[in-house]
Amino acid sequence: MQLIDTHTHLYSETFDEDRGAMIQRALSCGVTDFFIPAIDSTYTERMFALEKKYPNRMHLMTGVHPTHVKENYKEELNHVASLLRQRSFCALGEIGIDLYWDKTFLKEQQEAFDLQIQWAKEHKLPFVIHCRDAFDEVFEVLDGHDSKDLRGIFHCFTGTLDQAKQALSYNLKLGIGGVVTFKNGKIDQFLNQIPLSEIVLETDAPYLAPVPFRGKRNESSYIQEVASKVAEVYNLPFAEIASITSKNALAIFK
Ligand SMILES: [Zn+2]
Repeated sequence: MQLIDTHTHLYSETFDEDRGAMIQRALSCGVTDFFIPAIDSTYTERMFALEKKYPNRMHLMTGVHPTHVKENYKEELNHVASLLRQRSFCALGEIGIDLYWDKTFLKEQQEAFDLQIQWAKEHKLPFVIHCRDAFDEVFEVLDGHDSKDLRGIFHCFTGTLDQAKQALSYNLKLGIGGVVTFKNGKIDQFLNQIPLSEIVLETDAPYLAPVPFRGKRNESSYIQEVASKVAEVYNLPFAEIASITSKNALAIFK
């Protein structure tokens, strides 16, 4: 049984006390691969250390998270550009637009998102989108690109069925995480209308823990709760969900 966590911040300070044990729990329940999104330059060294400790398990992304696009965003983008020249990464991520916390830097967020998609295309890499209260703005940037050049994941998808279909039209897969287990999460009500070939699983640890851990620190082993709920939504065996979503994930990050 193979599970893949396509989005997990294992380098987070929250795990400093018990990171080894926490990762071991995930490995023990069949999580073979961890895809690690970047946030900003302050985490780069921590990400490298994690990769060094678990060389074939951890797959690093590079990118500037939209909530970290601030006054110094040009420096942050330069950091990403220089990393891309130095070594390989599995994806650009997480990148996108977030208007939930702050709208001040919308223009800069759009510019950074667009530029990082451009870099993903140049390096033939997928990209991982963070979108919060910003579907129209994200779609507007994606509309500026030819969808046949795009490949990636709409991480922590929480939109409507129409927005899901639009995301798929850009050649993106939907990243399904803890929200699918929430009573008010809504996506469980239409997810089975999306072909299983279009979804991947994620935790977004340490955030958004699934039920029954909602509100607590999330970790990669909880991907089992996400997979169980998805199995219920699609009315398919857990093993089949694990195998199909793992295959989907590996195809994106190949
Ligand atoms: Zn994230």
